[in-house]
Amino acid sequence: MERFQYTRARTIPEAIGIGAQATTAQQGAPVRFLAGGTTLVDLMKLNVEHPTRLVDINHLALNAIEHMPDGGLRIGALVRNAALAHDATVMKDYRVLSEALLSGASAQLRNVATTGGNLLQRTRCMYFRNTAMACNKREPGSGCSAIAGDNRSLAILGTSPQCIATNPSDMNVALAALDATVQVQGSKGERTIPFRDFHLLPGDTPHRETVLEPGDLVTHVTLAAPRAGATSRYLKLRDRASYEFALASAAVIVEVSGGRFGNVSIAMGGIGTKPWRMTAAEQALAGAPVDEATIVRAAKLALADAKPQSENGFKVELAQRCLAHALRLATGMAAS
Ligand SMILES: Cc1cc2nc3c(=O)[nH]c(=O)nc-3n(C[C@H](O)[C@H](O)[C@H](O)COP(=O)(O)OP(=O)(O)OC[C@H]3O[C@@H](n4cnc5c(N)ncnc54)[C@H](O)[C@@H]3O)c2cc1C
Ligand code: SF4
Repeated sequence: MERFQYTRARTIPEAIGIGAQATTAQQGAPVRFLAGGTTLVDLMKLNVEHPTRLVDINHLALNAIEHMPDGGLRIGALVRNAALAHDATVMKDYRVLSEALLSGASAQLRNVATTGGNLLQRTRCMYFRNTAMACNKREPGSGCSAIAGDNRSLAILGTSPQCIATNPSDMNVALAALDATVQVQGSKGERTIPFRDFHLLPGDTPHRETVLEPGDLVTHVTLAAPRAGATSRYLKLRDRASYEFALASAAVIVEVSGGRFGNVSIAMGGIGTKPWRMTAAEQALAGAPVDEATIVRAAKLALADAKPQSENGFKVELAQRCLAHALRLATGMAAS
């Protein structure tokens, strides 16, 4: 058994002060914040993560969903996934986020998992979780077992020769479509990070998954006021109907007027090394007629840059169909 220290932080400055003792962000850091623990404790038991100190942040005042003067929402990092999904405003004005959260994990896990922990959950690549196998994300420079191995569930967008793992979070896909921002406090003070800049591509450093600095504490996620008249949906395709990660998922927010698309935001999950914004498809839809031909064309365009691995070529068409159907649902062309 590995020994580690456990500290229950009572204030944000106390948590940040201990966090500042971390030497490297994400990978190999000796100090870790403990929220719901559904990722972190799991990985400690698998010997993938071995912090020497856990800072329990569950007693910090970060568990409120606040209505902002500009009409937006500020979500504390400790708001549980279930509480966020069932919040009346989220269900009404940010349906895509509610649906994404409710499609993830299980009811028990969602009661414990937090907004901050979900944002920072690690990949489910089986080689990352198996210390007998080479993995650049777990052990930089050791190689990637997935590229010539079992890669059926892994990424087709944003991959590098060092890593092809997907970001597994459903919530992150909705936050990407919603253009959320992430508030962080750390030894360098407070920062606000646009969601699209928060997660990093693997490149040559797949162990660095976000722009967080060592010891940074995520305090809030902020959503802008909902767009008047917009409809949003989340559609997740997976091997079984619950308790399973996405093979492909789509978060869409659409405005429709006079039979034509207005502004459209699209993000996809299960296919990218980070939550993936589909800007080419968004642009193709804006101003186009709401019909089957437009939707199918945009879905094909969205996947134009996909680079399948040896076992996941099926994801290209699956993701196209997923996006097309999410758009049908959001525009009322299909009933859910
Ligand atoms: C069986 C199973 C099935 C699952 N299925 C799905 C699924 O289908 N879809 C899906 O999206 N997810 C799924 N999950 C993942 C689940 O959503 C995450 O484990 C959960 O959201 C993590 O939240 P947590 O609060 O437990 O994080 P923790 O485990 O406490 O923390 C995760 C990481 O975030 C860091 N951290 C936590 N909070 C902060 C903070 N405020 N500031 C800085 N760092 C922080 C921790 O140090 C740690 O590195 C599944 C998990 C399990 C175990
Ligand atoms: S895909 Fe990434 S996480 Fe999976 S084995 Fe390769 S380096 Fe590790």
